[in-house]
Amino acid sequence: MQLDLSPAQERLRDTARQLAEAELAPNAARFEAEERVPTEVFRRLGEAGLMAVATPAELGGSAAGTVAYSLAMTEIARGCAATAVTMAVTNMVGEVIAAFGDEAQRATWCPRLAAGELGAFALSEVDAGSDPGGMRTVAIEDGDEWVLTGTKQWISHGDLSSVLVVWARTDGAGARGLSCFLVPQGAMGLGVSKHEDKMGLRASHTVGLTFDGVRVPKDAMLGPRGAGFRIAMMALDGGRVGIASQALGIATAAYEAARDFLRATPADQVAQFRLADIRTRLDAARLLALRAAAAKERGEPFSREASIAKAFSSETAWWACNEAAEIVGDTALVSGHPIDRCLRDVRVTMIYEGTSEVQRIVISRMELRA
Ligand SMILES: Cc1cc2nc3c(=O)[nH]c(=O)nc-3n(C[C@H](O)[C@H](O)[C@H](O)COP(=O)(O)OP(=O)(O)OC[C@H]3O[C@@H](n4cnc5c(N)ncnc54)[C@H](O)[C@@H]3O)c2cc1C
Repeated sequence: MQLDLSPAQERLRDTARQLAEAELAPNAARFEAEERVPTEVFRRLGEAGLMAVATPAELGGSAAGTVAYSLAMTEIARGCAATAVTMAVTNMVGEVIAAFGDEAQRATWCPRLAAGELGAFALSEVDAGSDPGGMRTVAIEDGDEWVLTGTKQWISHGDLSSVLVVWARTDGAGARGLSCFLVPQGAMGLGVSKHEDKMGLRASHTVGLTFDGVRVPKDAMLGPRGAGFRIAMMALDGGRVGIASQALGIATAAYEAARDFLRATPADQVAQFRLADIRTRLDAARLLALRAAAAKERGEPFSREASIAKAFSSETAWWACNEAAEIVGDTALVSGHPIDRCLRDVRVTMIYEGTSEVQRIVISRMELRA
């Protein structure tokens, strides 16, 4: 595995780091208190080439590849985890449209997402979380339109996105009956049913959505009819690299708070060894994330690598934030302390884009395949 970064990858990482240190970290507590990340932040990320890192340049993207994306994601999450999840989902949506969209869909949406408008990924439902095969939202043909009816839950910034990639059942039961649609914000019949009151990532909106006979033209279908499950799985593979990188960034922020505490406060060897263990495991997580990112960038199969990276990085990050709190002690758990926010923000990285159990299903299936 090639470990040297190219100058372009280093440049994007450094751009993200500077932006995170100057504009995100100092404001992350305020974003959380206000329960929103201002839209101008995403315009700034767009100008910096961070909202469509791996999207082709002719569609407005940075064409910088998945390794650069992983590095940048870690830096942004180190500054503000809620900004990072919005960046992650929007990058994923842009990549999906670039990969499966027709010319008009790509030309309409990719440049807007690259510039900092948001894109949502509307897959999950009450009975369709780990298993999208349980999906109940339907799309029925009516003349030259599709009519979408159903409800989605846990959709990140579904209320703020210009475009939503929406999965719905077009052709019978099971995962093979799913298709994918592009629904613009403001479509008649599209509503927000609920804002989740979460323990962490409070500056990222997470909403329930209702589709009450939402009509979209026939050409709003993304990819071939019946390809919805395949599109979702491909998108989630890439998304897992992003979440592995996000988890690493959150844990890095907690690690740095603990390290700075120890630099200022002479402590016993137990605390120093704890710090050494966090550093060691975060480095391992970084290597796994970069391995998965590099495989995706080379166009090789990377599902197994993405699941390994996602499971290891998110679980390590959860452990690392807890260890950082142990080093600092009680003040780490007081509202306003960066470790307090990291601990609350990091937990969901073991859930979204596939839970740790789902990652283990993917890994063990691939390992046991004859
Ligand atoms: C903050 C947040 C943001 C989110 N953003 C989005 C978004 O933007 N778009 C979107 O579509 N979704 C989003 N989600 C939903 C997320 O992807 C789902 O919560 C996740 O896929 C798990 O689904 P579930 O909650 O329905 O759990 P379930 O699938 O019901 O699982 C419950 C438990 O059972 C375990 N389990 C399930 N199946 C198996 C099995 N076969 N073997 C062993 N164990 C199993 C799971 O690991 C889990 O521990 C978000 C969730 C959160 C919390």
